[in-house]
Amino acid sequence: MRLKVYQRVVSYRISLLIIVALTTLIVGNFSIAKAHTEQNIRLVLQITIDGLRADLINRYANGFAKDGFRFLMEKGTYYTNAHYQYANTETIVGHATLATGTFPSQHGMVGNVWFDREAGELAYNIEDPDHPIIPTRKNETKGEQVDPAQKKSRTQGRSPDVLLAPTISDGLAAYYGGRSKIFGVSGKDRSAVSMAGHAGKAFWFSTNTGDFITSTYYYDAYPDWVNKWNSQRKAKGYADKSWSLFNDASTYLLAAQDDRPYEADLKGYGRVFPHPFGQANDKLFHTRLLVSPVGDQLALDFSKALIKNEQLGQDEIPDYLSVSFSSVDAVNHFFGPSSLENEDVVVQLDRTLANLFSFIDKTIGLKHTLIVLAADHGMADMPEYMTELGYKAGRLDPDKIVATANKVGQKFGVDEIVRFFYRPYLYLNDKKITAAKIDRMKVEHAIADVLTDLDGIALAVASSRLSVQGTNPLLEKVLRNHHASRSGDIYIIQEPYWFLFDKGPVKAMHGSPWQYDTHVPIIFMGPGIEAQTIHRRVHPVDVAPTITAFLGMTPPGSAHGSALEEVLR
Ligand SMILES: [Zn+2]
Repeated sequence: MRLKVYQRVVSYRISLLIIVALTTLIVGNFSIAKAHTEQNIRLVLQITIDGLRADLINRYANGFAKDGFRFLMEKGTYYTNAHYQYANTETIVGHATLATGTFPSQHGMVGNVWFDREAGELAYNIEDPDHPIIPTRKNETKGEQVDPAQKKSRTQGRSPDVLLAPTISDGLAAYYGGRSKIFGVSGKDRSAVSMAGHAGKAFWFSTNTGDFITSTYYYDAYPDWVNKWNSQRKAKGYADKSWSLFNDASTYLLAAQDDRPYEADLKGYGRVFPHPFGQANDKLFHTRLLVSPVGDQLALDFSKALIKNEQLGQDEIPDYLSVSFSSVDAVNHFFGPSSLENEDVVVQLDRTLANLFSFIDKTIGLKHTLIVLAADHGMADMPEYMTELGYKAGRLDPDKIVATANKVGQKFGVDEIVRFFYRPYLYLNDKKITAAKIDRMKVEHAIADVLTDLDGIALAVASSRLSVQGTNPLLEKVLRNHHASRSGDIYIIQEPYWFLFDKGPVKAMHGSPWQYDTHVPIIFMGPGIEAQTIHRRVHPVDVAPTITAFLGMTPPGSAHGSALEEVLR
């Protein structure tokens, strides 16, 4: 669209040049300025589907109606072959990459969790003790935290302070002199905060209360409309209800994939439909809502209230709303991506998206809206499922990895050389290595070599080796994941479908550099964007530069990707 407009402008200029040069100059300049605002975009709606591996929307397409996923796939520019280019395909890493257009080496989000060498403990990505959550109610029993990354957070504070690169939303705020309204909403804190950037405001679902909450980074007190939304206690309305299949069971491709012994049972939630949410005071009640289509439906309902009350898209200045839907990922973790539960949560998300599009059409107009859909990572099938199918896979024991590394350390005269292991990084004890006066590179390489020989590990690589070995595609992915102070000393990559994870209720996992984790959909839809399916390989770092190019803005400061031409012409 942009190129066509430009061509029109150029030919217009040439014809006018024949008449009078001065007039041409004035009209030409006016036309170029007009090109930036011609689409009259009033809202940028960036949708991220947590854990939506690219093939899932093909696998379930028969269960979709016309106005959800299909609407975007058939009316927008749909990229079928988009892949993340770094190794640790986790939630905060993917969201930060979509928001900034650059790699973890630049935006600093090397994992959901990393070891804080100075503090000597694990750090949760967007944790910030200086910006506590603003409470919504008193004397409420806390929910039980099952998100393994969230569980590692030391405080209740949250902010984007540790996100080291500018975002699309930061760019919008600067370009429009603070007049663009910017919000991020999600079932997960990290997915709301990263997309809202440093300049926007974020709200996310609390598994303690079922409310949408925020921190003092964004507000001193909740806006009235948020208090009003929370006071309706919509989550509690699902007490003693169940998650049931949306369509007739016979219509599902994975109808026979309901009761599998390796799926998780969240203390009474069960492995088969219907899944009972339990009583409202059950510690897992709100978590179960998130592990069902309800999590997305609540995010939708809150987003609609936000659009209405904050009056998004009501003037010429484009506003920005990021909605990151978390339920597909949550369901994947407990039931696996090849479960009946996964099929139903995606089919129901199709209805949720249709509802959102229809609401936006009524309140803002789809002709004034740029819609961008992507995912933060894919998902691996469970090792047990792959074993059933004949593929050799298994679960790696973190204790065994640490013990193996420590044994190598002993050969160098250092006891307990491993300071910390949290997938994928192994951190060595710097003090002990210095005191023993041993060659650090030698011991790192020796540990990496021995770990690489373990069953289920494809490659362990010392960070110090990355710069000299950056020619192998796998090592390039590790290098793009490397941040000097946050990354560990040795990066461990499991073999395909092996599970590199600590113990806990989670049964399936993403986070590898393999295709099932890197492959995500990217779709752009909006005025002037062609209906087309593009099969060339593109990358999520291209998303932010494409959004900014569409709006006529400079890409976010650290962006590495390129604007996708098919969207702009
Ligand atoms: Zn995720």
